[in-house]
Amino acid sequence: MKNFFAKLGEKIKANKKKTIVISVISFVLICAIISICCLSAFLFNRFSDGYIPTDAQVEAMKGQYKRVVIIGVDGVGDYFSKTYTPNFDKMFSDKKIGDTQINASVTYTGVSVYPTISCENWMSMFHGVRPVYHGFIFRSTNQRVERGEHTDEEKYPSFVGRYLAENPNGKVLSVCTWRGVNNGIIEDDERITKYNSYPDDIKQFLENYNEDTRTSSNIMTVVDASEEEKVATTVSDNIAGIEGQLYEYLSDHVEQYGYSDETIEMRDAMTMQRVITETVTNPDKYQIAYMHLDQVDHAGHSFGYGKPGYVNAVSRVDMLIGRLYDAYEAAGMLEDTLFVLCTDHGHRLPGGHKNHGKNTDLEVNVTFALAGKTIKSGTPDKYVETDMAAIISYALGVKAAESWQGRVPYGMFLGE
Ligand SMILES: [Zn+2]
Ligand SMILES: [Zn+2]
Repeated sequence: MKNFFAKLGEKIKANKKKTIVISVISFVLICAIISICCLSAFLFNRFSDGYIPTDAQVEAMKGQYKRVVIIGVDGVGDYFSKTYTPNFDKMFSDKKIGDTQINASVTYTGVSVYPTISCENWMSMFHGVRPVYHGFIFRSTNQRVERGEHTDEEKYPSFVGRYLAENPNGKVLSVCTWRGVNNGIIEDDERITKYNSYPDDIKQFLENYNEDTRTSSNIMTVVDASEEEKVATTVSDNIAGIEGQLYEYLSDHVEQYGYSDETIEMRDAMTMQRVITETVTNPDKYQIAYMHLDQVDHAGHSFGYGKPGYVNAVSRVDMLIGRLYDAYEAAGMLEDTLFVLCTDHGHRLPGGHKNHGKNTDLEVNVTFALAGKTIKSGTPDKYVETDMAAIISYALGVKAAESWQGRVPYGMFLGE
């Protein structure tokens, strides 16, 4: 052995130049191989494993639901699996309503896009492509959509745009606590009714509340991206199954906390109540109803993932989900509704900066849940966020856009 190393030393000495060149090339090659391995694990994890439904499959889905109700919960990641959420569990469980069997499909290990920033992710969920394609990546993206900047919607329509293109008489409702989704992510179209919830709405709701009719009229709500156009709306608290609950909740909150710190959770309650009011009082009007709840993300920034303030925010969102469920149950609307719950990202563990944007599991893993009569019970195969547009289009009997990168995950729908 000694002899071997002595000989090797001599050889290296004799071919000094050659040895240096070989060492450098080997080093570069090893680095390149390591980088490619890391990058592909990172990148390919974001690729869809699902399928494109056949024309016959899409056709068979037409008219299955009167409406799709989508609950967007910003920043909740996988946390519905980690705390007590009885209403989420009730909505997303298998059950029989009359003669109709309803099944639930739930995953907590869906994969967000990168970076785990709100705009990047919601844009990918709605428009079916990864951020480098829709073009909202890294540079002040949240502010850009809040200001009303859109992606190229002809090239990459959202599932809302696709639905309306095939259903010219369709109507869509979108109510958002975070205005980014309404202002820049969903197309502007006169068939889409958009409301953003602001602190003023809470004040006006309480001031204009009529205890006899349990409604609050003349709430001046923002309806467009400029945030100047306002429209007088009515929010009803006289909904069977949840009568008077919003007024009680808001007046208790204001009495305890005032308007300053806690408005985000009150705005979420208002967002939910608008969706309930609009859809229960006009059950045939909207075929897609979207809502964006924002308090869990705020709690993540204020307290950190999994801290008591974060858990409380998830519990309050769960309570709102319960109101939606109870109102739909009382109105007999459960069997012809598809419920969808989605989120953009989670949060980093507290310690240092409380935030999201990176690639840790807690930021990347997302909840995705569906309940309806065409859904296959259980946990689906891999779901990535770009799949959402394809999933909702399929559920509505609409063909996916050819430009979409997302697919329908296996194990999510009956009759695949
Ligand atoms: Zn977010
Ligand atoms: Zn955030």
